[in-house]
Amino acid sequence: MRSPFVRPALAAAIAASAVAAPGLAAQTVASAPAPRPVDWTAMQDETTRVLADYLRINTTNPPGNEIATARYLQAFLAKEGIEARILDTTELGAGRANLYARLAHNSGDGSKKAVALVHHMDVVPADPRYWSMDPFSGAVKDGYLWGRGALDMKGEGIAHLMALVALKRSGAPLTRDIVFIANADEELGSTGALVFTDRHPDLLKDVEYLFTEGGENPLGSDGKVEYYGVGVAEKRTFWQKVTVKGTPSHGSKPTKQNPVPKLVAALDRIAKWETPLHVTPGNQKYFHDVSALPQYTAQQRRWLSDVRTSLSTPAARAWITSDPYRNAVLRNTISLTGLTGSNKTNVIPAEATAELDIRLLPDADPAQFLAELQRVAADTAVHFSPLLAPKAPLESPIETDMFRAIERATRDRDPKALVTTPMLTGATDRPSYRRLGIVTYGFAPFRVTRAEDQRGVHGNDERVQVSELGWGVHYLYDVLRYVQ
Ligand SMILES: [Zn+2]
Repeated sequence: MRSPFVRPALAAAIAASAVAAPGLAAQTVASAPAPRPVDWTAMQDETTRVLADYLRINTTNPPGNEIATARYLQAFLAKEGIEARILDTTELGAGRANLYARLAHNSGDGSKKAVALVHHMDVVPADPRYWSMDPFSGAVKDGYLWGRGALDMKGEGIAHLMALVALKRSGAPLTRDIVFIANADEELGSTGALVFTDRHPDLLKDVEYLFTEGGENPLGSDGKVEYYGVGVAEKRTFWQKVTVKGTPSHGSKPTKQNPVPKLVAALDRIAKWETPLHVTPGNQKYFHDVSALPQYTAQQRRWLSDVRTSLSTPAARAWITSDPYRNAVLRNTISLTGLTGSNKTNVIPAEATAELDIRLLPDADPAQFLAELQRVAADTAVHFSPLLAPKAPLESPIETDMFRAIERATRDRDPKALVTTPMLTGATDRPSYRRLGIVTYGFAPFRVTRAEDQRGVHGNDERVQVSELGWGVHYLYDVLRYVQ
């Protein structure tokens, strides 16, 4: 259902919202309804309560049980007059679901395309023995809301929900529909996003921009945000199993048909292989942006400011790649991880296997990389087989209205803010949406210290600062207003 709002003047809308202060009553103007101011203090309290309830619903994956969180979100949205649909229950299996809702634009013309806010409802397991609080209590203590998923990513999901609700309640002028999607199963198989994008391209066909996890706003020990990181790209998992077959026999009589030495020799060549360095456009910008940070020397700053050129200088290359993150975003990487041979000391096995955690740059060609890998292994007895299909490549453009809206909302809060584009070395659900042509960004609504992020995400004592919940909803609300 389209809302019967008449579009007020944009200037009036921005002015009204800018002066919005806690405690101001909603106002009604008969002829041209201006947006009603949002009480951000009350919104922070409400966001905290809604997230606490959401964290209390245990969606540990496996088994997930996202149907329970989907019903919770559906009931909340229904109270706000927004219809949400629970989808894909058959395809995803017992207890699982995706959820979809849409806040219609109120401009009357609808000339602009939609924005989607996407999160996953599942969480990784939490072992209460290692937590200071019950991971599913949704307790507030020491200024933090505690619980599995507070950061990854139920907290972001509720920030999406409340920003959308704030737009609806305030009647802010919208030229774009705002789509809200909650997926199952990101942490294990990504089946939620895969099934959703396979089955419902019709629901996404007018979506131009999409936000989900993969952004970061690291907070330094001095209380300042190091940078506001918008995730525009991520590495692609290209995991391989390596197999060498042989002839089983007794270990007391060594043979040339033992597969273990062949595998070990090939793995040694692979481990020593220095994959070529390559700078994507997002990385060139990211390194240039962070070169201004205070922790670098003058020379390091020069190297970072034009990383593409610097990599041809041995000293610069050595320093740049000495950092595991910088190294990982500048090349295709291979980590040798799993390894099996015989399970008995005196038996030469029929086969030996290894597993390689390969992460490709977004613009790398998987087939070409595999051919290179076979050349490096240099033994026709060594066979590679994929452990999972590579996701679609993810690299989104930076010169967009949405990126500019993020920059504007960020600089409102922090005039000297550095808004940049770090590449994610891990994987998210973004490629499933990006393959439909949607400009897909990792957008983080909260500012979190690296220590908090490192400890909590997939670790113990995951928690989010209550003040960040209020800050983050308002930040996202402004980004969404500015992109109209
Ligand atoms: Zn996540």
